[in-house]
Amino acid sequence: MCKLCDEGKPQDHTDSLLDSRRDFLKAAATTGVAAAGLSLFAARPAAAKDKDKEDDDPPDDTGKPGRRYIIRGGAVMTMDPSMPHRGEFAKADVLVEGKKIVAVGPNLPVAGAAQIDATGRIVMPGFIDTHHHQFETVLRSFLADGVLINDGSGSPSGSTTYFEFILLTFAPVYRPQDVYINELFGGLSQLDAGVTTVHDVSQIHHSPQHSDAAIQALFDTGRRAAFGYFESAGAAILHTNPGNQYPQDASRIKKQWFSSSDQLVTMIMGGEVYLGNQSTDDSWTIGRNLDLQIAAHILSPFGIRPTFDLLAAGTGGNGHIGMGPDNLFIHTTGMSDTAWQRVKDVGAQVSIAFPIEMNMRHGMPPIIRMQMMGMEPSLSTDVECTMTADSFTQMRAAMNLQRMIVNQMTLDKPNGNQNLPDPRNWELPQSAMTSNDNPGFPYWPKPPAGIPAPLTTRDVLRYATMNGAKGLRLDTKTGSLTPGKEADIIILDASAINVAPLNQVPGAVVSLMDRTNVETVIVAGKIRKWKGELLDVDLPHLRKQLEASRDYVFNKAGVAQDLFSSQ
Ligand SMILES: [Zn+2]
Repeated sequence: MCKLCDEGKPQDHTDSLLDSRRDFLKAAATTGVAAAGLSLFAARPAAAKDKDKEDDDPPDDTGKPGRRYIIRGGAVMTMDPSMPHRGEFAKADVLVEGKKIVAVGPNLPVAGAAQIDATGRIVMPGFIDTHHHQFETVLRSFLADGVLINDGSGSPSGSTTYFEFILLTFAPVYRPQDVYINELFGGLSQLDAGVTTVHDVSQIHHSPQHSDAAIQALFDTGRRAAFGYFESAGAAILHTNPGNQYPQDASRIKKQWFSSSDQLVTMIMGGEVYLGNQSTDDSWTIGRNLDLQIAAHILSPFGIRPTFDLLAAGTGGNGHIGMGPDNLFIHTTGMSDTAWQRVKDVGAQVSIAFPIEMNMRHGMPPIIRMQMMGMEPSLSTDVECTMTADSFTQMRAAMNLQRMIVNQMTLDKPNGNQNLPDPRNWELPQSAMTSNDNPGFPYWPKPPAGIPAPLTTRDVLRYATMNGAKGLRLDTKTGSLTPGKEADIIILDASAINVAPLNQVPGAVVSLMDRTNVETVIVAGKIRKWKGELLDVDLPHLRKQLEASRDYVFNKAGVAQDLFSSQ
């Protein structure tokens, strides 16, 4: 979106977010792709500067070199079990200097640091979402009832579907400015919910301008993000994207935006294997030559199982592509035992979108299989056209789905698990033997050998933090409150009406909290949300731009806006 870049004189946009945003806006104005207005961010409201409110103000210049502040007296859950007390402290402090966490522990010396009172709060690392399509923000809840692909049933769920509507109808009409405001608004919304890192699977690369708009929005959001350079969704099938430069534009994008590793936004190469062997060859080879992680959606409804077997054998694409430790596989439903073994052996990463997979017919989330193989997933929110993108929903869905299966396997074991895996018979049938090892009340069989223990709140918290960092190869920078890492921290209000009294910290976060409890959010030392308010964001203005984009996209796609559409 930079004029000089457009003229073939690539500019470095990475040194200053402010400058790069100005470049984007200036170029956007000259090239006529400007969104409805130019003032995307506002100064903090004057009210916040009132004298009586001064005590409530955040410390100044957070995240700047040498600037110290201490988060005082909260229940601290570092998610780093190698630290003292397993990294769990009923009452402790977190000292931040510049971008980094300097120390965690009880009664740290203040040493001239500004103080943030965290009494009655839970202090933990920000959540990490390893797969999210932020370009779909204007389509929020449009597909709340739909499944992946039209199933010919004529039912409400089977008729208005993801493939036909989101990919083939809406995605092709997006302009660069639609991409920008969708990405920005969706990103700020997740930041507000305490998700400090995202892998944005932007499949909306109809042209290099679309790509630049997505990346610019990720930088402007001001949180940690992996930009996933995927294909030109829908438009590539319909051939309505003459400007499409995927995948070869990856080289320019990497050079122009990602030459520094010391920035919040990094890059992942999209390498979908359902686009044909040539595309697999091209995208995986380009990604590997650029030393990028390579991500792909892997799911049985797209007929990927035989393709995945070839990748496991090292004979994928046109014959020579194999999976490696640089792969991030999304969903991974319905794959063969052999392929799974290879995923484990090479150390590839797996991201599960529990609620979406359960809802949209991707197949059973492969959590039990992964546990039985000694593997763990990270969590991903996927699409807000169908489901909310907060991590509380993710963690609860993961835990409940896994427990539903394990609990039913336990109850059914005395009957030889005869009813599994047919889900229609997962409840105990009338003919079942109910007095196998201990007759009478209670009917409460011992968990059978060989099935995993039910997931715990700590487990899913680990999935939503450290595993996410590992999944995006960012675990030296984020994922836990380990001194030396960058300060991606959330402060959660445990005194709120839906949580008090605080009895168990992991349980309070996973089982009780929602986004209203996310009080303060810090990214790389910089406070982005303070006591319930996102800082430096003109939300009404951004919402107006988002609504204008929504109106354009629906109109251009020929889909009527209907607040009570029955799909
Ligand atoms: Zn996806």
